[in-house]
Order: sequence, then structure tokens, then C-alpha cells
Amino acid sequence: MTRRIDILGAGLSGLSAATILAKEGYDVHVHEIRKDSGARFDGDFQGLENWTSDTDFFDEMRDWGLNPDQFKSNDFDIIDLVHPDDEITNPKTDGVAFRVVERGTDEHCIDQGFKRMAQDAGATIHYETRKSPDECDIIAAGPKDSSAIAFGEIFHTDHPNHVTFQLNDKLAPGAYSYLIIIDGIGLICTCLWRQQKKSARYLNETIAWYEEHYELNRIPIKRVGGKGDFSIPDKYIHDGRYYVGEAGGLQDFMWGFGMRYAITSGVMAAHSITGKEDYEKQIRRKLVPLVRVSAINRFLLNRVGNRGFKMIANYWMKDQERKGDGLKFMKWIYQPGIFRRSLWPIVKLGMLRRKRLLDGRMVSRMPFRKSLSRDNWEPSSRAHEIAQEWRLMQRRGGAVSFTESDA
Ligand SMILES: Cc1cc2nc3c(=O)[nH]c(=O)nc-3n(C[C@H](O)[C@H](O)[C@H](O)COP(=O)(O)OP(=O)(O)OC[C@H]3O[C@@H](n4cnc5c(N)ncnc54)[C@H](O)[C@@H]3O)c2cc1C
Repeated sequence: MTRRIDILGAGLSGLSAATILAKEGYDVHVHEIRKDSGARFDGDFQGLENWTSDTDFFDEMRDWGLNPDQFKSNDFDIIDLVHPDDEITNPKTDGVAFRVVERGTDEHCIDQGFKRMAQDAGATIHYETRKSPDECDIIAAGPKDSSAIAFGEIFHTDHPNHVTFQLNDKLAPGAYSYLIIIDGIGLICTCLWRQQKKSARYLNETIAWYEEHYELNRIPIKRVGGKGDFSIPDKYIHDGRYYVGEAGGLQDFMWGFGMRYAITSGVMAAHSITGKEDYEKQIRRKLVPLVRVSAINRFLLNRVGNRGFKMIANYWMKDQERKGDGLKFMKWIYQPGIFRRSLWPIVKLGMLRRKRLLDGRMVSRMPFRKSLSRDNWEPSSRAHEIAQEWRLMQRRGGAVSFTESDA
């Protein structure tokens, strides 16, 4: 008899597991609380990183039987890196540093590409359904709590395709902001790694900054965002259930690049069910070291402000000069030497809190950090105007898919 597999969540991790298992002949049912795959997002751009392994991620996907041509992606080999003092430099590489994909429910979005792969393989997806996790074999329901949030605005622009990554502790407390432009659509996003009241002011001020430095001719469309949950569980299989993607704490604590971990862990869970490999062992061998080093890096980042960010940006550019490849720095920061590894006990004690989740799992979780006195500043007059402009847009139907209260 065909074995039935139930998966909770039709996001990237759940659908990658579903595709592999359905191809192997399992009777796969995916249960999704929302109307469609990608509905958690609303047309925002995200970067699929290519630095945590020497193998190109799309080659890895093809080896697993997943088809990256099922969704639109744009390769990038160069970015603008904005230092905290507004100096702009250019990390670059000869290959693909990362790919920009769109999250959402439009046909070309990565979520829809994964949905097609799962359905073509024979999986059944039940949308707008509630299923108890106890009845599922794989838990792929994404983040639960908030350790950090991101707010962004999507707009029309006539600026060519482009990516900027800005390290700035004022505009993005404890983190970074970014600008992504693909085919006439732009996204300006700021990430808050410290919890704030009236978070929209950070986005308004960030937009003001980008407008001053780039010819955007911005016409706002909508505002988007989301939360990230950073916690490391004691076990990845609990009560016989496989926890994958962000539901399993497989996230990048440093920058939040969780998509690759989500897809990889979905594939690993499927391979474990088919008997090809052991999930707990593979996760600990391949992903846990990356998650741990990202947590160590986050611990260090939490201890510095703009002065530390400037040192990082300078070091990155010097490293590029020496090695002739800007991607080598990104690879290096995810491969800890003895010094960073030796910090792990301090990181566990100083940054993570033990918590028992409702399903009984024990995790070491990074709480949302409190704001600092330096996070309180007066918005600029341009930021006030942008806030006002957005209120007008909202009256005309501009949608907001994520607010502070969703965090
Ligand atoms: C604003 C923002 C920007 C980001 N940018 C990047 C980036 O640039 N690069 C990157 O790599 N990562 C980025 N990430 C992180 C990345 O989006 C996630 O790590 C990744 O989507 C996790 O995949 P997942 O399968 O675990 O969860 P998801 O892809 O979110 O899928 C989880 C699914 O489970 C569903 N679900 C939730 N609860 C239930 C339930 N009870 N029952 C049934 N279904 C349920 C959800 O609706 C959702 O469809 C970003 C995240 C945010 C919020």
C-alpha cells in the first residue's frame, strides 16, 4: 500500500519535501492555512544566497530533482555596499553571488514554482485548511515568534536592475536595509533587529535616504514585510515529526537568508523518509554548523553599532582587494575559525533563552532585543513627507500586508 505523508505548510520547505516524496511514489498531502503558496508574502523580492556552499545552489537543486526554471530569478554578481558613513563600494564576484526571486502568488514567484513542482510530481495541496500538527509527518509552517522584523515598500521605478545593501544602525537598528530593483519594480526594505514602537518611521527614513542617493522616480504601490524566528531546537525530529525550514529553527541568525536552509531541509526530511539519509544526522552535519556560526556572528553584531559596521565594510573591501573576489568574504563569515567557534558557550548563555514550545520541543531562542536610547531620533522633513504620501496612497487603495501587530 502507498504510504501517506502529511505536511503542514505549503511554503518552500514543505513543498520541496512534497515534491521529492511524491516523485518517490508517496501519497503526499500538504495542508496550508492560507489561500495559496506565497500568500504569506506579497510580491517582495528576496535573495537566494550562493555563499554557504561551494556548489551553486541551482546545481544542487537540479541534483535533487527540483527545477529552478519553474520560477523567475535574476542573477547578481555585484552590489552597492553602503557603509554607515554613506561611502558606497562594490563587492563583486565572477560567478553568481545570489539570485533575486519574488515571493508571492503570481505565477513567476518562487512559491508558485515550488507549488507547480509539487503538484506535477503528484502531491495534493489542501489550501485554507487547518490540520493539527499531531496528524502531520513534516512540520513546515514557517516562523511562529518574532526575533526580528522587516518592513518594505514596493514601487514603480525607471531605474535599471540593481541591488544595494546598506549597513546602518540608525535606519535599520542592529541590521541592514536594502534596495532591489527588477524590471521596473523596486523594493526598499529595512530590517529591525531591535524591537521598536512606530516602526514605519524607520522605513520612511530609509526611503528618504535611498531617494537622496539614487534616481528612483518612485511611485509607491504597496507596503510589505514579515517576521523572522531565530531559535535552535534540541532535536529536529520530535515525537516522530520532522521539523523543517523556519519551523525547525533553520534560519540565518545574522542576516535572515533562510530560503536556502528551508529548501535544503525539506529535501533532507524527504530523503530521510525514503531511507536515503538520516535527517537528524544530515541537519547536524550540514545546516546546524551554518546556523550556529550565524548565531555567533549575530551575537558579535549585536555588540557593535555603526563603528563596527564600518569596520566590517572596510574589511570586506580589503579582503576583496587581496583575494580578487568579494564573495570569498561572505563564504568566510559562514565558516568559523577557532576564535568564533570558541565563543559558542558565551553566545548560548548571553544571547539565547531556553524555551519549551507548545508542542513540547525545547529550543534555545533569540528573543527580539529591546530598543536602545540611540534608536530614538527625530524623523527628517522628507521622511515626514514620505509618511504623508503613503497615507494618501493608502486612502487610494495602497495595501499593507504586514504591520507591527503581526509581529
Ligand atoms: C521580509 C522578509 C524578507 C526576507 N528576505 C529573505 C532573503 O532575502 N533571503 C532569504 O533567503 N530569506 C529571506 N527571508 C526568510 C525566508 O523568507 C524564510 O526563511 C523562508 O521562507 C522559510 O521557509 P519555510 O518553508 O520555513 O516557511 P514559508 O516559506 O513561510 O512557508 C510556511 C508556510 O506555512 C504556512 N503555515 C503557517 N502556519 C500554518 C498552519 N498552522 N497550518 C498550515 N500552514 C501554516 C504559511 O502560510 C506558509 O505558507 C525573509 C523573510 C522575511 C519575512
